[in-house]
Amino acid sequence: MTFDVITIFPDFFSSLLEHGVLKRAIAAGLASIRLHDLRDFTEDRHRTVDDRPFGGGPGMVFKPDPVFKAVAALQAGRPDQRLSVILLSPQGRLFTQAVAEELKRQDHLVLICGRYEGVDERIAEHVATDEISIGDYVLSGGELPAALIMESVVRLLPGVLGNEASAPQDSFTTNQAGCREFRYGLLDFPHYTRPADFQGWKVPEVLLSGNHEEIRRWRRQRALEKTWRRRPDLLAGFPLSEEDRQWLATLQRQACEPVVIPGLGEQKS
Ligand code: SAH
Repeated sequence: MTFDVITIFPDFFSSLLEHGVLKRAIAAGLASIRLHDLRDFTEDRHRTVDDRPFGGGPGMVFKPDPVFKAVAALQAGRPDQRLSVILLSPQGRLFTQAVAEELKRQDHLVLICGRYEGVDERIAEHVATDEISIGDYVLSGGELPAALIMESVVRLLPGVLGNEASAPQDSFTTNQAGCREFRYGLLDFPHYTRPADFQGWKVPEVLLSGNHEEIRRWRRQRALEKTWRRRPDLLAGFPLSEEDRQWLATLQRQACEPVVIPGLGEQKS
């Protein structure tokens, strides 16, 4: 999979490409990340990429011409394919695990990183084929969002993660990921490692039991419970099994019980 990143700060990405999954995927020939300095597509002496906004107001806006030229140069390299061009923008559709799974099916993506007040709207209208936001907050540039998208897409590519089983069990992983796992779409269950007793904080007994069915049920229940408590929105439309329903009913009953606070109402001696 190839990513072409258009940015005024290509150096921003250097440490990212030297660590973790991105480094590994590049070394294994599974991903390639090409950085393009937007200023190389300017024609004036000062290599100007921005200008003042029509209509007045503070801040600067990316001029359409350099971005257009950068994308056109990439398109010229692939004449028989309409490029997928993603503009990073807080106004785009929200990036989620499902979007990462959708993007990993492409073999090539162009990412445009804005700065200042953003990019001339004609780029969004006529050049970008998609506009993606990484969340309802505003950053100063599209470089972090681009890095975030590349990281989450690349780790889904077959062969990139050391343990192929680990991606489908992660939080949010959806049905479409082709996963036969038993808890797709939920938050992940809690993980523990040695020692079994750390400062008196013990690992749940069931995980030490070796009883695979009990462990499966415990993990499923914890994943459901965490999701129900923290992100009930994820349960909308979720295919609950009969066992899940019973467990959620139990949780709901418990939640309605009066909270027992030890020692409440006792006289202090
Ligand atoms: N004036 C714009 C914000 C510009 S922020 C607005 O209010 O909508 C400058 C650049 O940072 C954007 O062009 C975009 O590329 C990037 N950016 C900031 N927040 C982002 C987010 N949540 N998701 C994706 N890109 C973002």
